[in-house]
Amino acid sequence: MPELPEVETVVRRLQQVLPGKTINSLTVLKEKSFVGDQFLVMEKTITEVSRRAKLIRIHLSDSTSLLVHLKMTGQLIYVDDQERLGGGHPTLDWVQELPSNHTRVWFDLGSHAALYFNDQRIFGWVKHMDEEAVQREYAKYAPDVIDDVVTPDYFFSKLQRTARPIKVAILDSKIMSGLGNIYACDALNLASIHPLRPGKSLSFEEAENLLDASKQVLEKGIALGGATIEHFRHVDGFSGDYQKEVLVYGREGEPCFNCGSALVKEKIAGRGTYYCSGCQK
Ligand SMILES: [Zn+2]
Repeated sequence: MPELPEVETVVRRLQQVLPGKTINSLTVLKEKSFVGDQFLVMEKTITEVSRRAKLIRIHLSDSTSLLVHLKMTGQLIYVDDQERLGGGHPTLDWVQELPSNHTRVWFDLGSHAALYFNDQRIFGWVKHMDEEAVQREYAKYAPDVIDDVVTPDYFFSKLQRTARPIKVAILDSKIMSGLGNIYACDALNLASIHPLRPGKSLSFEEAENLLDASKQVLEKGIALGGATIEHFRHVDGFSGDYQKEVLVYGREGEPCFNCGSALVKEKIAGRGTYYCSGCQK
């Protein structure tokens, strides 16, 4: 599943190519994947691409927007005569001819340019919304971990109210958005905090350190273009490099960079959790 750094990377890439392009037409190949009146989108010019939580917003010239959620397996891929870029779930669709069997919505941008929304499992969506609807959707998501509004005071007060393991609490999108599994494991290691500690057992100083570590790993993830696991690490215009710099995620049995102990893996609330029992207390 694309996490915040991967989604931010898609946004930054699309922001380089989409503004100024006009949607000549769009083709909805899977009804479930597009919500709205497709005729209202046609002939609108894209002015900007932005992000809130894991929602990608494509701003249109009439002040409406296309909101995109990639969910588990979504991708946005831009193709023209010279370039091909984007991201999301890594599959062969990154490199093969489009539209493919997984293409759900397809925007013709003129001059041989197109934007494809692909989604194998069809949990993702594209919705055409006015400003009010966008704000209603945004209100469902807590602020991003890297937002300035997520202060140590805010974070500590949220943790004080939960006895759930800290690993579960920091993945809770009601507390803050954007810290997915890979980055949550790394943040806990960086802050030397055991993933099973009850949220409310953290001191203010520990909460502050953990928040700082969370912001650090996400910012590093964004700087490296996100993480690309498995077979698609070297596709230009798509992949990221965070997996080369990962602290604990996927490194079971390997030494902790902080103390040298062997890292362990344990399932916590159903998610594979990597940590160091040597230095994470
Ligand atoms: Zn360690």
